[in-house]
Formats: sequence, structure tokens, C-alpha cells
Amino acid sequence: MSKKNQLGVTPLSEDVSAWYNEIVFKAELADRGPAKGTMVIRPYGYTIWELLQAQLDQRFKDTGHVNAYFPLFIPESYLHREADHVEGFSPELAVVTHAGGKELDEPLVVRPTSETVIGEMYSRWITSYRDLPVLINAWNNVVRWELRPRIFLRTTEFLWQEGHTAHADQQEAMDETMQMLGVYAEFARTVAAIPMIEGEKTPGERFAGAVRTFTIEGMMRDGKALQSGTSHYLGTNFAQAFDITYTDVNNEVQHVHTTSWGMSTRMIGAVILAHGDDQGLVLPPRLAPIQVVMVPIGRDEDGVAAAAKADELAAELKAAGVRVHVDHRDASPGFKFSDWELKGVPLRVELGPRDLEAGHVVVAHRVGEVDDKGRAVKQQIPFADFVSGVPALLDAYHDMLVERAETFRDENTSVVDNWDAFEAQVATGFAVAFHCGRPECEDDIKSATKATPRCIPLEGEAAEGVCIRCDNPSAYGKRIIFGRAY
Ligand SMILES: [Zn+2]
Repeated sequence: MSKKNQLGVTPLSEDVSAWYNEIVFKAELADRGPAKGTMVIRPYGYTIWELLQAQLDQRFKDTGHVNAYFPLFIPESYLHREADHVEGFSPELAVVTHAGGKELDEPLVVRPTSETVIGEMYSRWITSYRDLPVLINAWNNVVRWELRPRIFLRTTEFLWQEGHTAHADQQEAMDETMQMLGVYAEFARTVAAIPMIEGEKTPGERFAGAVRTFTIEGMMRDGKALQSGTSHYLGTNFAQAFDITYTDVNNEVQHVHTTSWGMSTRMIGAVILAHGDDQGLVLPPRLAPIQVVMVPIGRDEDGVAAAAKADELAAELKAAGVRVHVDHRDASPGFKFSDWELKGVPLRVELGPRDLEAGHVVVAHRVGEVDDKGRAVKQQIPFADFVSGVPALLDAYHDMLVERAETFRDENTSVVDNWDAFEAQVATGFAVAFHCGRPECEDDIKSATKATPRCIPLEGEAAEGVCIRCDNPSAYGKRIIFGRAY
């Protein structure tokens, strides 16, 4: 039996899976939808998504992309035009066969991803080298039938963005693929406070229809990996399937080279699992719906005065662009503190009658220094310095979360060159090891340890050796990252 804390949450240190499910519900991030595998994203969770979306979208625009919208329904035959694509997605498709009270002449697929319908449209829109590059992103929902759904991590319907670009040649399309991988990694670190390993997927883990798939992989608090964004170089596979051609400067007809790249509501799962602790969520300030919660203390007249001062300071913070909330609920300070801890609010500000008299607020960080009794070290900040000081406190808190996550990841990542060490390492973290590159050897490792190749890291020294599992010569020219994954 697990020991739950006073808010009824199983400690993360005891059972990550139970902790995750309870936190998602208790922090009111999301709920299960009536249809199996669907999720309802509640306001607190949806605000995180909106913050994520706004900051990611800005990065797309800064790199020259524009947004558009493509249809939810795709003629089933489109999926069949790219052989690998249909093979990869068929088991997950939801298909509409009846509509308007009759059977459809051709079934419609609910989009699992939009390469095919966008390919069809690009074939109409692109005719000349002057039309290139096409740099479009779409924010939408997709449906992939999940047998083992998990809120935010694997749901039948999820929200994401899918970028789809078309280029004159391979070099330009590869540059785009790598640029967007870099955008994801920078976004994850700068906004979500998660340091990512950037790398390429092995052939067995490639996107269905891609020539090359690149990924960002984060380490969660239990040492497991979470693939958090992918960027694909599609070569001319979809250009050939959908006849996307252009006439070049020499008046010769060429196929375009395309890319696609996506990040989804799964990233919210990454934030929960990369930062959380026994007390609940730990939200990075740039994604926190509430960055500062103010808790006025005291019941009598003095309490009223403290509450009024809290409102006044909150109004100033709001004007300074800080997301702040004043908790006026009729509940004990202790209850409120635990509740906001559970919800992962970065800074808690206490203001009682004695603080009012002294002219300061008391600030506690959700994660930070603790005294020898394990209690959070609180900071007294004079009213005059408080509002102007909050942005710097939030930035420092963000940096601390990045550093903490990076230290944790590095401490749980090891280079291993023998099988026993490999098995032990992937039980708790990432193993960096040589692999032969054979898909059947990947499968063998997976059935023995549940670990899969996460990526061939972009960084990492060139080296050759023998496969950690089968002793065949190593592929890829370097050691690669293995881990168990969500
Ligand atoms: Zn092998």
C-alpha cells in the first residue's frame, strides 16, 4: 500500500505511474473523455497548452513559417499512395464509412497526420522554382487509435502542430529538418526547462514514409525517455506519391523535397514527468498558468488589510506582465500551501498582518533551498523591491530547473561496454553503447530489457566497437543512446 500525502497523492518516489495519473486529475489538468482513449483538457491544462503554443508559434514565425488549416477528413485512397506510410499508420486509423445517413462511395480517414492531404494540395500549388520553398505549419488535432491510452502521453485524439515544407533540393530540405529540430530543442530548454538530447532515429524507429527522422529525447524523473518532438526529412517520397513537381531554372521538371515536423500535447506530459516531485507538479515559469500565487493570512481586520495589500501588489504584478493569482478562499493557509504546491506554482507569496506592519512579503519557491528540517527557506522582500524583483526570481527559478534536470540526466546516463552493465543501466537511466544497427537485434534488446534505441546523438565522439548485444561490428560510427521510454 502506498503512503499518500495529505492531498491524497501517491509519492512519485514510490510509484511514478500512480503518481502521474493522480496528479493529472488532482491538479485539474485533464480528465478522461467518455470515448475510450480520449481526453478532456481542463482549463488549467489548456492554459499550459496555450502558453506552449504561443511561444512555439512565435519561433515558427521567426523562422519564416506561416500557418494554414487543412481538412480533418482524408480520402482513404490517399493513404495508400505512399506504401510505408499506409503500412505504418493502418493499425491506428479511424475510418468513416457512413455519413449523411448513407454509406460513402469512398471511406474517409480521420487524419492521423496530414502528409497526404497536404501533398495533394502542394501538387496543385507548386509549379515553378519561384513557388519554393513552401513553409507552412498547421495547428490541429489528429486521431490515432491507441490500445493503451495514457493522458497527454498517448491519447486517441491529441492536439499538435505539424509543419510541412517543400524545397527545391535535398540540401535545403535537410537544412530545414535540422533547423526545426534545433527550434524544438531550444524551445524545450528555454520554455519547458527540459534539456533534450538531439539525435537521429535508427531505421527501425523512423516515421512511416520518412527518409530520415530526427528527435529530441528528454529524461523523465524515473530515468525513462520521452520523445518530445520529431523532425523528418521525407526526401521525394511524398512528392512522387502526389506528383509534386516544379520546373527548375533550366526548365526541367523536378520533384520537390519535403519535410514534416511536429510537437504535441505530449509535451505537457513531458513537463509533468521531467520536473514533478512527491508534492505534485513543478511547472516551469514560462508555461505556468499562475507564476505567482499570493496567500493573504489572517482573519480579523488586520487580515483584511493584508488581503487588500496583496490585491494591490497583484495588480502591479499583473501590469508588469506576471501571471498572478490571489487566493482569497475560505480555507487554512496550510491547505492553500499544499494545494498550490500540488498545482506546481513557481512562487508562493505570503502576506499576513505582521508582514504588513514590517513592510515586506514572504516568498517561498516551489522547489528550492530547504532548511535542516526539510522546510522551504523563505525570503523576506520589502514591498518596494517586490514587484520589480519578481521577473528575475522567475528567470532564476527557470535556470535552476534546467540545471537540476540536466544534472539528474547526466547522473543517470553512462557509457557501457558490456551486457550486464547495459541491463543495469537501462533499468534506471540512459545507456550509451555501440549497436550493430540490425532491427532484429534492436527487438532482441527490447524483449530482454524493454529498452529501445532512443537516438543516434548529434553530439558524441566518433568511435567504432562491437554491438553491446550481439558482438557484430558497430554501425553509426559512434555509440548511441538506449533507454526505456514512454
Ligand atoms: Zn547487435
